[in-house]
Amino acid sequence: MEPPELILPGRRGPRSGTPQRPRIGIVKFASCDGCQLTLLDLEDELLTIADRVDLVEFAEATSRRSAGPFDVLFVEGSISTAEQVQEIARLRAVSHRLVTIGACATAGGIQAIRNWFDPDEVRAAVYPEPTYVESLAQARPVADFVAVDGELRGCPISPGQLREFLVALVTGRRPQLPDEAVCLECKRRGVVCVAVAQGIPCLGPVTRTGCGAICPAYGRGCYGCFGPRESANTTSLARWLSDDRSAADVGRLFAGFTAWSVPFRATIDAYGGPPGQVLPARETDDA
Ligand code: SF4
Ligand code: SF4
Repeated sequence: MEPPELILPGRRGPRSGTPQRPRIGIVKFASCDGCQLTLLDLEDELLTIADRVDLVEFAEATSRRSAGPFDVLFVEGSISTAEQVQEIARLRAVSHRLVTIGACATAGGIQAIRNWFDPDEVRAAVYPEPTYVESLAQARPVADFVAVDGELRGCPISPGQLREFLVALVTGRRPQLPDEAVCLECKRRGVVCVAVAQGIPCLGPVTRTGCGAICPAYGRGCYGCFGPRESANTTSLARWLSDDRSAADVGRLFAGFTAWSVPFRATIDAYGGPPGQVLPARETDDA
C-alpha cells in the first residue's frame, strides 16, 4: 500500500478564521489494546503531540468521547462481528483519513488463524455457551471492508514508526515508513544472521522492517509480525525452509500474527494449511 498522503492542512474555524488543531480519534475492534498502549508509552512526546492535535476519541486514555467527524482516525483490531462491519462503515464515512494500526487491523491478527477452521467447532472448543457468541466466520483486516489511507504494522506497532507518523501528521508531511526486509535492520545493527549462522528458521527476508530486528537480536527467528514486505518472495523462502523440515512445519512458520495476509496465506495453503491440531472438545462441568 502506498504511504498515506498526509494531509492536515490546518482547518479553519468558521468564526475566528484561526487554524484549528486536527481532530484525532483512536478506536478499537477485535484486539488486545497493545497498539493503543504503544501510543501511551510515548509519554513525554505524547504530551507535546497532544498540544498540537485535538484528541477527541481515545477510550484507553480519556473519558472524552466523540462519534466524529475525525480528521484522522486510527483503527486497531480486526473486524470479527456483524456489528463491527456496520461500525467501521460508519466511522469511514465520518473520517477524512483512516489509518489502521497493528497486525490485527492490517492483517487480521492472531485471531485470523481461526479462519481456516469451522467457526462452530472453534466456538464450541472455546466457549461454554457458544450459542451466545455471534462472530463472523472469519476475522479479517479493516481494508477488506472500507478504504484505508495508511497503515502502521506490527504486533504491537513500533514506537519509532508511530512517532514518525505523528510528527508527519502535525507538520503536514508524508511519513517515512520504509518497506525493506527485516534482514536489512539486522545488517545495520550488526546482528549475525540467525538463519545462516544457527540454522534458525526466520521470516526476516520476507517481512517488512520497522521493529529494529528485535527477534534476531535476541537469537530468535522473525515470525513475521510486521507482515509481508512488498514483493516478498515467500515461495523461494518456503522452498529453502523445506530443505530440512516437513511441509506442515513450513506452513506453520508462516501461520502467525499476519497469517491472513495474502502472501503468507498462499504459502500456508500451499504447504498444507495452518497448525493442524484437532480442536479438543471443551470439557463441561458434568463431564
Ligand atoms: S496487533 Fe498485537 S498488540 Fe496490536 S492489538 Fe493486535 S494483538 Fe494487540
Ligand atoms: S523480528 Fe519479526 S517477529 Fe520479531 S518483532 Fe520484528 S517483525 Fe516482529
